[in-house]
Amino acid sequence: MLKFHMPTKVLVGENCVFENKADLIIGKRALIVTGKTSGKKSGALDDVIKILENEKIPYHVYDKIENNPEINHMVKGGEFARNCGCDFIIAIGGGSPLDAAKAISVYATNEPKENSGFDVYDIFKGSYKNKPIPMVAVPTTAGTGSEVTPYSILTLHKEKTKKSFTCVDCFYKTAFLDGRYTLNLPLQVAKNTAIDAMCHLIEGYTNKKSSPVTDCLCLEGLSIIGKYVDNLINGNFSVDICTELLWASALGGIVISHTGTTIVHSMGYQLTYFKDIPHGMANGYLVYEYLKRVDSKRAASCLYALGMESFDEFKNFLEKALPREHNFTEDELANWTETSIKAKNVASCPFPVTKNLELEIYKRSLLN
Ligand code: NAP
Ligand code: ZN
Repeated sequence: MLKFHMPTKVLVGENCVFENKADLIIGKRALIVTGKTSGKKSGALDDVIKILENEKIPYHVYDKIENNPEINHMVKGGEFARNCGCDFIIAIGGGSPLDAAKAISVYATNEPKENSGFDVYDIFKGSYKNKPIPMVAVPTTAGTGSEVTPYSILTLHKEKTKKSFTCVDCFYKTAFLDGRYTLNLPLQVAKNTAIDAMCHLIEGYTNKKSSPVTDCLCLEGLSIIGKYVDNLINGNFSVDICTELLWASALGGIVISHTGTTIVHSMGYQLTYFKDIPHGMANGYLVYEYLKRVDSKRAASCLYALGMESFDEFKNFLEKALPREHNFTEDELANWTETSIKAKNVASCPFPVTKNLELEIYKRSLLN
């Protein structure tokens, strides 16, 4: 059965926040969820506050979100939202604040308490009672596509990994994509996040759950990223290019909302959890060995859409974009496969996946 569902309104273009105030203000008291610096550095926080103040909408800022948000911090965010009486969320930032806001919106209306029937970890089962508070998103990185996915990826120390929850009530009502907010991204963050978007598109296109609709979006998104490979390497951006990259990232998000990801992501989580390697960089280290193993026609279409003539050109791009600063041991890699093999998205891979195969991909990608 072909099914396509994308409930988020996506507004793309310079000043889209100012030009669509009614889509930004969807309640009476706002909670702004953002990172320690991304809201301010991108300029998005100032713009949003200006609009809220002009419209006399009270707001509270929760700018405590760290990279790879940890689940218990989200519970605190939910408590903050409840105590302030906020009835909607404006999330500003990269994937970390955007994912965090989704969990906060659930905990805001569902307090995890002993014997209450709702435990902190029940969020992963989607078994909460009350509707989360509604949200809008202003992304400041062009990578995760979290502004258009129902996923939130949280760090779970209990299981020594990152784990996602899916919540259809957590789709953002509106996503505002303005390239001004990603123009001054640190160059390495711009590279990592673009590679994350590229991985979503490649993993979506090669996924067992791909459909004719997601295929179109993947090829379109890959062709945008392919157009700007040199800009990504050299750090040469304009607002228009940044807006296009945000659009490519959103296309990746729409795709993985339907297909999910593959082992590139689940294996990458281990690199982030144990070595603190940024999400997109972790995926970028692994995607070449993944793509080499998929059906040759599908792989060739990805390369063609990226405007690349060979696997070597693809590898060369990844090597130029991603520094190598970590050492790994074979024992570490073997240990990580114990967790990564249990991930749900193993089943979506276009080829059979075993622990041995994951170990081989880790070794070829990371050793030497
Ligand atoms: P991020 O962790 O949100 O941000 C990375 C760094 O960039 C942070 O230090 C952040 O600062 C900074 N930053 C962000 N925007 C900036 C700007 N405009 N100017 C200057 N600095 C800026 O990175 P991300 O790659 O976007 O998100 C990664 C997270 O998303 C991971 O947890 C990953 O698992 C998740 N993810 C989610 C989905 C999904 O579907 N929901 C998909 C893929 C990945 P601050 O610390 O101040 O914010
Ligand atoms: Zn990702």
